[in-house]
Amino acid sequence: MPNMATGKIVLKRGKEKPILNHHPWIFSGAIHRVENANDGDTVDVYDAAGDASSRTRGSKGNLRDDASGEWLARAAYNSRSQIAARVWTFERGEEIDATFFTNKIARAREIRKLTGNATRLVNAESDFLPGIVVDQYGDFLVVQFLTLGAELHKEMIVDVLKEIVLNDVISVVRPSSFVVRGIYERSDVDVRKKEGLKETTGVLFGEEPPDKIEIEENNARFLVDVKRGHKTGFYLDQRVNRLRALPYLRGDVLNAFAYTGAFGVYAAKCNDARVLNLDASASALELARENFALNGVEANAEFVVADAFEKLREYRAEGKKFDAIVLDPPKFVTSQANLERAARGYKDLNMLAFQLLRPNGFLITFSCSGLVDAKLFQQIVFSAAVDGKRDAQIIERLGQSPDHPIGLNFPEGEYLKGLAVRVM
Ligand code: SAH
Repeated sequence: MPNMATGKIVLKRGKEKPILNHHPWIFSGAIHRVENANDGDTVDVYDAAGDASSRTRGSKGNLRDDASGEWLARAAYNSRSQIAARVWTFERGEEIDATFFTNKIARAREIRKLTGNATRLVNAESDFLPGIVVDQYGDFLVVQFLTLGAELHKEMIVDVLKEIVLNDVISVVRPSSFVVRGIYERSDVDVRKKEGLKETTGVLFGEEPPDKIEIEENNARFLVDVKRGHKTGFYLDQRVNRLRALPYLRGDVLNAFAYTGAFGVYAAKCNDARVLNLDASASALELARENFALNGVEANAEFVVADAFEKLREYRAEGKKFDAIVLDPPKFVTSQANLERAARGYKDLNMLAFQLLRPNGFLITFSCSGLVDAKLFQQIVFSAAVDGKRDAQIIERLGQSPDHPIGLNFPEGEYLKGLAVRVM
């Protein structure tokens, strides 16, 4: 039973600081010894015996243990991952059971009640539930279990979701009529490999979702392919930015890395903009086309399947110009090792965009690479402006939507940053 903590981890001397600050990750290098624990087990985490720094904290409820130091946390252990343990709780004595998941998910939901009918309900570590993502699309929940600890509690979590979500979730949005028709798993993600897990997808409860689920977002409507689309089907993290970018998306708009067209649909629908949607994925743009039609703005839209780096160069050579450009590329930086190369990619794209903008044009530019922080991103965009020979000013700084909160104890949860920039 993964929820019965019998095993134990003792940290190396001096390695308890992040845990005392409630950071949820314990790297393998911080562990002195492991007792009685199999992969996936819930374990108790202790600091090293007699460590001076651990004794200085007011140890309310933290009993001494002769064989080790003070109790710090209860975590999911996995020897196969570099992140060898992920903390479930910092409350001594708290069991990792249905009540635990019910409370955590209920807390996460409290701040989601005012958003539309598509929202991230649970954002993993940032909602104090390592490895667990729950997105809602209309009457369906789409879930990801990213870690072994999460995987081994799958059944329990699905039961909890059925229970609390069936009873009242989202009732604020759709009173009385709301029923969860199904819970679908999209654990087809690379990071599972690092945990020794295979990719898996499928129905966990109720009906299989249709090929396209229609959702509402800020009065626009979108079809979402939750079974085959990126992530769980839609970039929910950009919801707030689609609204905030709207005042700048007028005239001829290039929606680069358009995916299923969301930024462009807003611009066409609300500002009567003419939108050129560019993406390397033909199937994403097929759905984008349907999304423009669904919102009655297909006449305003063009769709170009191409590599953005090449196409933007081509447009520059042709002397093509835009009044606004959205750049929302995928995550270029996957590790420190490719940071420099990826930064050059961001710079190149942004430089091309600067050169394609008419005077007074707007660039709405994003990076979803966690390793590129806001400061570095601004530097990259600045050097792109220099190379593109344009003066520009930041009008707004953009970040991830409120249903993707960032634990103060978990800065790694902040990944999406953007700038709304005006060129002179
Ligand atoms: N802006 C979108 C999300 C973009 S996700 C939204 O709001 O929904 C990133 C997109 O970039 C994906 O659709 C992917 O197909 C596309 N993509 C990745 N590499 C690309 C490239 N080199 N050229 C063009 N598109 C690319």
